[in-house]
Amino acid sequence: MHQDLQALKQRVPLLDYLRRHNWTARPVGVRQEFVGLCPLHPETQPSFYVNAAKNVFYCHGCGRGGDLIRFVQLSLNLSFREALVYLKQQLGLPEPGEDEALRETADLYRQQLGRHTEALDYLRSRGVYDSRLIEHLSIGYAPGGMLYRHMISLGYPADLLIRLGLIHNGKDAFYRRIVFPCFDAARPVNLYGRGIDSRCPHRFLPLPKGGLFSWSTVGNHPEVILVEGLFDLAVLWQAGFINATCAFGVHLTQAQFAQLSDRPDRKVFLAFDSDLAGQQASDSLAQRLQSAGLNVGIVDLPAGQDPNTFFAAGRSGAEFDHLVRSARRL
Ligand SMILES: [Zn+2]
Repeated sequence: MHQDLQALKQRVPLLDYLRRHNWTARPVGVRQEFVGLCPLHPETQPSFYVNAAKNVFYCHGCGRGGDLIRFVQLSLNLSFREALVYLKQQLGLPEPGEDEALRETADLYRQQLGRHTEALDYLRSRGVYDSRLIEHLSIGYAPGGMLYRHMISLGYPADLLIRLGLIHNGKDAFYRRIVFPCFDAARPVNLYGRGIDSRCPHRFLPLPKGGLFSWSTVGNHPEVILVEGLFDLAVLWQAGFINATCAFGVHLTQAQFAQLSDRPDRKVFLAFDSDLAGQQASDSLAQRLQSAGLNVGIVDLPAGQDPNTFFAAGRSGAEFDHLVRSARRL
């Protein structure tokens, strides 16, 4: 979006804009400077300067200056956001959409992660420490209190942020949460936030979650490991099991089920929580997948564990691989 703003200013040079609005000026000096009567206040002696190279103005009469967007704000008495909309309308450019807003939010949180030790400590406590993996999954952190201002300054309308659920009751919805962006192919479709303390429940945005996590790459493997949550997936990827995917819970949507059954030689290993609910969910999903003609194995983890706690407790990839190789069949 920063680039969008720069591109917008380049597409509408300030001098062109002023001339189209009947500003007459004469060149001064050699550095592409122009002076004329100020369009922002009444005057008889020209004191309004435009530097065409830097694309900025300054008036020595009323003391106001800035870039094109600032000029539009001042001359039409618009907010920053309204000025942006006005300029985009003049150019016939589309409004910033939901995808960009999700991408921009994920980007801001990703940049925040390394600046907050409580977030990095939490990740480590969940067994996630590899910086390349953190970068690869674009894991971020929402410290709270900065998203709204940031997004408004980039021209996103408040109602879009509220509609997407990014801002909830006037606050960052992901306040004090680790944030995973979820992509469907390359398109961001949702964000998952996991509270770093028990007072902040985990949550998704009130949007569809999309298909299986990272299916555009994981789906290329004939053998896949299906886990419940993104922390299970993160530790598995970190240990080299890049054929792990996640359905954000144990209940697959029709679309996710169709993805899993997209090739006849597909083998699916279910690695859900080892508690009763997880095991019941594995068994019933295994039955459905087998009825659809897939080869299914159920990975039995030690009592009380899920893939995340298994690795967070210091167990190795070889140990997990052994469990996969000895997966139970129905
Ligand atoms: Zn002026």
